[in-house]
Amino acid sequence: MLKKDISDLLKKSKKWGWVLEPDAQRIFSLSGFQTPMFDVATGPEEALRIVRKIGYPVVAKIVSPAVVHKSDVKGVVVGVRDDETLLAALARFQQIDGFVGMLIAEMVKGLELIIGAKNDLQFGPMILVGMGGVGVEIYKDVSLRMAPLKPRDADNMLDELTAKKLLTGYRGSEPVNLAALKKTLVNFSKLMMDLQNVVESVDLNPVMCNPKSCLVVDSRIMLK
Ligand code: ADP
Ligand code: MG
Repeated sequence: MLKKDISDLLKKSKKWGWVLEPDAQRIFSLSGFQTPMFDVATGPEEALRIVRKIGYPVVAKIVSPAVVHKSDVKGVVVGVRDDETLLAALARFQQIDGFVGMLIAEMVKGLELIIGAKNDLQFGPMILVGMGGVGVEIYKDVSLRMAPLKPRDADNMLDELTAKKLLTGYRGSEPVNLAALKKTLVNFSKLMMDLQNVVESVDLNPVMCNPKSCLVVDSRIMLK
């Protein structure tokens, strides 16, 4: 059974056919996933109030039902360190098609992974994990399984990745918290089972994993 807060967020998103990032992030947070601290501003005073709570550096992102891929419209500014840059981003985003707000989030660090799901007519939710970031389309280093995943399946999926070494620490790079990553994968597959009647596909890109935790940094939920 879905929590009422989650079904309300999904219902509200129906008119766009997908769930805007702030609401998708809320759904993941309500479902026990870790996310960076964030809030949404529509004007400058609100933006400054939010950034005082979160603290610099932050990332600023466009929120618009017309913008599914934010970077494509220069709708993401990372490493914002002062009010001037923050307000300049806001002024620019306000000119972008369909602007409803600016998401301001805490900057997090880690290895960028992608976790996704597609609802297959025959097999139900298919879960994907792989290396994220810019490399995702180049390397196509991903593994796939049918949901639901057992912890053992999560283990095997990660073992199959060519870039597995990056997870365990390679040439001075820090290892990621593998237990947190596996838990994230298993929880994700469980949530996808619960959502399979309403959701077409989901992309968590990136999930950022570091020695302490795995955080969902960007999420997109496409509805049926
Ligand atoms: P989109 O995929 O819609 O273009 P994202 O939210 O994924 O936008 O942001 C683009 C990139 O910006 C991410 O792949 C990541 O590298 C970086 N980024 C986004 N949010 C954060 C964050 N909270 N902390 C650190 N980096 C971030
Ligand atoms: Mg993204």
